[in-house]
Amino acid sequence: MLEQAHPLAMFFQAFVTQTVGYLVVVGLVFLVVWRWGEERFRGSRIQAKKRVNQKQLVFEVKNTLGTLAIGTASAVIISLCYAAGLTKLSADASAFTWWGIIASIIGFLLLNDLWFYAWHRLLHQPWLYRRVHAVHHKSVDVNPFSVYSFHPFEAFILGSAIFPVLFLVPIYLPALGVLQVLGMMNNIMSHLGYEFLPRWYTRIPPFRWMNTATFHNLHHTKLNGNYGLFFRFWDRALGTEVPEYEETFLKRGAALHASNTN
Ligand SMILES: [Zn+2]
Ligand SMILES: [Zn+2]
Repeated sequence: MLEQAHPLAMFFQAFVTQTVGYLVVVGLVFLVVWRWGEERFRGSRIQAKKRVNQKQLVFEVKNTLGTLAIGTASAVIISLCYAAGLTKLSADASAFTWWGIIASIIGFLLLNDLWFYAWHRLLHQPWLYRRVHAVHHKSVDVNPFSVYSFHPFEAFILGSAIFPVLFLVPIYLPALGVLQVLGMMNNIMSHLGYEFLPRWYTRIPPFRWMNTATFHNLHHTKLNGNYGLFFRFWDRALGTEVPEYEETFLKRGAALHASNTN
C-alpha cells in the first residue's frame, strides 16, 4: 500500500513500478512460451494458426498502459481511503483468524467472478460490444500481452467489484496482494495460448470447476460462451459453456488441429 503524501506523486510512482513489473513478467512468459517454446510446446498449442504479429502486440501494449493507469488510480484511491480510516481494511493480523482470511479470499474470488460474468455477458450485447469490448476481442490468437488489452471503460468496470467490499467487509490488507497475484496468474494462464494443465484437470473437483487456458481461448475464437473468469460454474449453471470445451481441452495440439481449423 502506498504512503506518499501527494496523490499525483503516488500515482506516478505506482504506475511506473506496476507497469515495469507487469511488462517484465508478461514479457518473460511470452519469451519462454511463445519464442523459446515455439517448437518445444507445439503439442500444447491451442489454436492451429499462429496469427500474432507485431501490430497486434503494439495494440495490446498500448491498451495495457491505459488499463494499468486505471488500476493504479484505483489503488491510489483505495490507499487514500484506507489512510483516512474509511475502509474496513486492516493490517492488524491479530484481528483475523487464518480461516477467516482464506474465506475472505475465496469469497471475494466468487463474488468477483459473478461480477465479471454478468458484465462480460452485458459487454457482449451489440451496443456495448461495438463500443467497448471489441477492443479486447481484436486479439483472437491470444497471448500474454492480450491480458489487459481493454477499452478504458472495461478496465474500470471489471476492476471495480472490490470497492463496495472494502467499505463493508473487514479484510486483512495482505489478502488484497494475494488476490492481485492470483488474478494476474489466472489472467495470464487464460491468455497463454497454450494448454499445459494435465488432462485429469477437468475430471476432478475442485479443479474441474475452474477455468483453463483452453476455456478462455475458446471464448476468443467462438466470440460467445465461456464468459467466466476463474470458474466454470456460472457458465454451466446458466447454459453458456461452449459445448466442445472438454473435448478441446483433452485433445489440444496436433490431435486437435487435425480436426479443427481454428
Ligand atoms: Zn468477451
Ligand atoms: Zn480475454
